[in-house]
Amino acid sequence: MNDVAALPRVTYSNIAEDFSGVHAHFGKVIAEMRGRQLGLERPNHVGGRDSTEGTAYDAPCPIDRRLSLGTFFAASPREVDSAVAAARAAQRGWRDLGWPRRVALARAAADLLEARKFEVAAACLLEVGKSRMEALGEVEEAIDLIRFYAGEMEANDGFRRDLARANPREETFDVLRPYGVFAVIAPFNFPVALSLGMSICALLAGNTVVFKPSPMAGLTGRLLSDCLVEAGLPAGVFNLICGGAETGAALAAHSGIDGIAFTGSHAVGMRMLREFGCGGRHARPVLAEMGGKNPTYVAASADLDTAVSGVLRSAFGLQGQKCSAGSVVFLHETLADAFLDRFRSAAAALVVDDPCERESFMGPLISEAALERFETSRMQAKSAGGRVHGGERLTGGLYDHGAYVRPAIVTGLPDDHALHRDELFMPFLTVRTFSDLGDAIARGNAVPYGLTAGVYTGEPAELEEFLETAEAGVLYANRASGATTGAWPGIQTFCGWKGSGTGSKGGLGAWYLPQFMREQSHTIMR
Ligand code: NAD
Repeated sequence: MNDVAALPRVTYSNIAEDFSGVHAHFGKVIAEMRGRQLGLERPNHVGGRDSTEGTAYDAPCPIDRRLSLGTFFAASPREVDSAVAAARAAQRGWRDLGWPRRVALARAAADLLEARKFEVAAACLLEVGKSRMEALGEVEEAIDLIRFYAGEMEANDGFRRDLARANPREETFDVLRPYGVFAVIAPFNFPVALSLGMSICALLAGNTVVFKPSPMAGLTGRLLSDCLVEAGLPAGVFNLICGGAETGAALAAHSGIDGIAFTGSHAVGMRMLREFGCGGRHARPVLAEMGGKNPTYVAASADLDTAVSGVLRSAFGLQGQKCSAGSVVFLHETLADAFLDRFRSAAAALVVDDPCERESFMGPLISEAALERFETSRMQAKSAGGRVHGGERLTGGLYDHGAYVRPAIVTGLPDDHALHRDELFMPFLTVRTFSDLGDAIARGNAVPYGLTAGVYTGEPAELEEFLETAEAGVLYANRASGATTGAWPGIQTFCGWKGSGTGSKGGLGAWYLPQFMREQSHTIMR
């Protein structure tokens, strides 16, 4: 145990460290998880009790679809009612417990997650098909998110602020108070960090939670729920219900919910903003973090090695299934050929394999539906006169039991083609060229999204122009490790703009926590 505790932490940025000890240990944990922890019944957790109410379903492991991650239970409308009722019943007690006690419980949950980080990362790897480093990085991020927001609560004294007095006998102060019950609805691709980031802010603020993970991510959903419950959260404070769109819609529409924290696609998020945010008796908070079509600009002055590495990692890390993925690259026309030569060779050398293996860079796509979208996009590119480099489906052996593809690089598409504009969420990079950086940034901005944007340049003036004009919540420059994927607490914020999220209302940033609370002004004559 001590040896394990001494292993270096994996973050998304320290890609060059020696992780041989981490690999040796993690390899054993993955094998153990694969051998003994898959295929089990994983009940929901409602009002302090496990529950198998609802329709049972098996979630296949994307790495090898012959394996079942487990049996989960899509909560019926009755079970959604029970979960909301349990959360409502527990809310006042949770609020009255006071923020210092809630902070202590959150920290206890972070400690438990830290003690179980290899197990949870192995579950995440098997569930999403993440590489080893991505899975471990995500769990570390989640632990830090809990500790960061616990610290924010403390640093802000529970968000109570004395105000000036208009009259010496009048005491005035503002306080942030919980809304009540939050629905937390999470996507499949960061099932640990995003689920916990949203949930812990809701909880620290004094709300109780009904959490619905992606239907593909019930395994980590249950492991996270166990950490929170075992840390000592009272019954009903955190409730886990599984299921897909139907359960999510029943939860979001429930009249007993006071706010929603959602991360997922643009279409679903916008619907929640419209229907839940102002569709009821009164306005309710919807913190929505959504998709992106994220450009990267490579200027003539860029360092080519850094740019090739950064664009490659952004575009194809986690099979392009990151909201932050750089899915369209703008190349200055003077370096386009040189860049593409190197980039295509580097992409062809990426190892696409079982992500349980340490050498694997890309695992499978999450589902057969994602594979269909990939193949349709390839055909669309070809029929529009584009050239697709790579992008083959892999077959034989394990490849026949998952959706394994080589990354696709598409050149020669008309500039106004939808493949340059729409989020695809797959390892599919479209290439555009430019002669003027300002013009390229305007073209990159002309999408319904605004999540991440990156630049590779050696010119300070170009960097400045990019930072001033790129329309995205997250900007990065000259990173060989690519887009900042994580909302690494205290280091990087993750937030959307335009159709990717409502600024700091979405991402896990420094101003995220207060949004789970409403402001109340107190004026008392003494
Ligand atoms: P999704 O929108 O399909 O599903 C997200 C969640 O919403 C799931 O739990 C799903 O079951 C639920 N859901 C689906 N339809 C619903 C409905 N009608 N009512 C209520 N709930 C519903 O997204 P996904 O495929 O799981 O994840 C990928 C998407 O998430 C991409 O668009 C990606 O860009 C986005 N994403 C954004 C961020 C970010 O921070 N901006 C992070 C991760 C993922």
